[in-house]
Amino acid sequence: MNAADRAKLVREVELAGNCSHPIRLSGEMVNVTTGEVGMSSLRIACKDRRAVICPSCSYTYKADAWILVSSGLVGGKGTPTDVASHPRLFVTLTAPSFGPVHTVKTGGGCVALYNPRDELLARGILCVHGRALTCRLRHSVRDNDLGRPLCFECFDYEGAVLWNAHASLLWNNTIQAIRRTLAETAGVNQKQLKEVAQVHYLKVAEMQRRGLVHLHIILRADGPGPLEDEPPSWLTSDLLAMVVKRAASHASAFGARGERFVWGKRLDIQDLASGPSDNTKVPSYVAKYATKTTDGTRDLARRFHSRRQIAVVVDDPHAQRLALTAWDLDLLPALEPLHLKRHAHNFGYTGQLITKSRSYSTTFGELRKARAEFMSARNEGDPVEGTFRYEGRGYDDPRGTQLAEMFFAMKRELREEAAVAKRMAPPTALEAS
Ligand SMILES: [Zn+2]
Ligand SMILES: [Zn+2]
Ligand SMILES: [Zn+2]
Repeated sequence: MNAADRAKLVREVELAGNCSHPIRLSGEMVNVTTGEVGMSSLRIACKDRRAVICPSCSYTYKADAWILVSSGLVGGKGTPTDVASHPRLFVTLTAPSFGPVHTVKTGGGCVALYNPRDELLARGILCVHGRALTCRLRHSVRDNDLGRPLCFECFDYEGAVLWNAHASLLWNNTIQAIRRTLAETAGVNQKQLKEVAQVHYLKVAEMQRRGLVHLHIILRADGPGPLEDEPPSWLTSDLLAMVVKRAASHASAFGARGERFVWGKRLDIQDLASGPSDNTKVPSYVAKYATKTTDGTRDLARRFHSRRQIAVVVDDPHAQRLALTAWDLDLLPALEPLHLKRHAHNFGYTGQLITKSRSYSTTFGELRKARAEFMSARNEGDPVEGTFRYEGRGYDDPRGTQLAEMFFAMKRELREEAAVAKRMAPPTALEAS
């Protein structure tokens, strides 16, 4: 490799924003000023949200997720700051138990999630397979056993996968029930509710170690018109919390074979107006989940193409069984519409990681557009237009990926150093006076 090739690779990596596996496009470029036409190829960032796939793109995604959540809480990026005074809740909806799993309780001990309807537990300390159904260990948070069932045979894998597959539908039914109850409270029908008040939300799915999805939801009550409008005075945080509680305990979703899916018993509701620190804590919490894969490894980062691939690639026995169960359930004609094969790497969860109602705040698309406009404004030279087609992934020189990850690591280190220095800096004359 000569000096010119090396310089070209460095330039390519920089232009792709230090992306590890950029998308390669090629096509005709037209210089808008001179009319000159030329063939060109370019690499654009992959925009993958998962840190194990692309450190640089996931860092950008994490920042965008932070802004998305934060602007809905306190305003910004086109959302008025008035929303900060509206009732806002942080709600966590959980999955029911599908069998006891190893866990770390607040006191440090492991008592598997207990489901009183579980007859096997009621029978005694051993399950029908002769395995102990209690665990006296104090697991460390790094313990591989965490989230794994006490008895693999007793764990209801089908139930767990199907629950994940219906979690989004269950949420849709829940938000409808919340809006219906608010309409009843206001004495109007559901259609007329938006003339009185609106409820906006952002939800993020978190895959627990036991392989079931939890939904974290930011709910905000707004007035009927533009977001600057105050909600009616009767619509307080306390009332909203009561309505959510009722809706969550009554909501259900039905499967194709008549199964009824409901939320787990654990429901957490926090009033976000109670502490200003929540306005930074909650966006950080959401952003943290946004860049994770199902289990935090590469094994479950992508769709599987065969049953054998699951058996070979996924080391964790619990994760493997969940993925295989999803794959096998797809063979049942009644369950075909769930596309469980396609979602086997998410243990059946078919929903998006982050979803929101339209008016909660800005969108990922808007944030990306703003960034692209900012970057193109900084690029010198004549504007160009072009039509491109997909040519593949990655750099021609495989060292491009290494280079990108090194550049990104250095950039992040410098950025973090700068942030620390800023926090440590003595107050300026203006601040001190
Ligand atoms: Zn990337
Ligand atoms: Zn245990
Ligand atoms: Zn058992």
